[in-house]
Amino acid sequence: MAQKNTDNRTTFMTGEGSKNDQSGETSYLERFFTDQLKDIYYAENKILDGLKEMIEATTTDELKDAFKEHLGQTEKHVKRLEKVFGLVGMRPEGKKCDAIEGLLKEAKSIISETEDGTMTRDAALIFAAQKVEHYEIATYGGLVQFAITIGLHEAADILDRTLREEENTDRMLTEIAENDINLGAEHEGVEYSWDKQNQTAEMDDES
Ligand code: FE
Ligand code: FE
Repeated sequence: MAQKNTDNRTTFMTGEGSKNDQSGETSYLERFFTDQLKDIYYAENKILDGLKEMIEATTTDELKDAFKEHLGQTEKHVKRLEKVFGLVGMRPEGKKCDAIEGLLKEAKSIISETEDGTMTRDAALIFAAQKVEHYEIATYGGLVQFAITIGLHEAADILDRTLREEENTDRMLTEIAENDINLGAEHEGVEYSWDKQNQTAEMDDES
């Protein structure tokens, strides 16, 4: 059975005031909130590096510009998280996020498995980037709700601003994919197959 651990409680020293103020103790929800704040802080910093690699790898200027724009927004996301840490009286601190490590690893393998200068590369990059956006949307969506419940209204507003930018980015990437990139990738057809190497390897195995 889970035991209540009252040690090492995070104290919301300068917070805007939580529902737990009466007791002076930090609730488990507040602790989970700060834990997830560290998770997304780690993730956003990793995404900065990931986006730079993705910008380098794109085929079309349209996608390159979209990634560049989101890189600028991501820098702001990091700053906003630092502000939220400040609001709860904590120093900004990251905690290793396995999910983002996995998603960015997948993006890297997409880059290496698709051919430079193809529309298939861009279609695949959008796919990988949207998985990252959805992870961020899930995290910020949860954090906003937690912040509201805890009574951290300024933090909720700040996190909500980022949530909206992630949602807009996701929508914009869908539009770019649907406008011409997916079709362009489809027109590359069988002449270019990103999986050709794997298929050849599999056929060799079977023979
Ligand atoms: Fe972000
Ligand atoms: Fe994002």
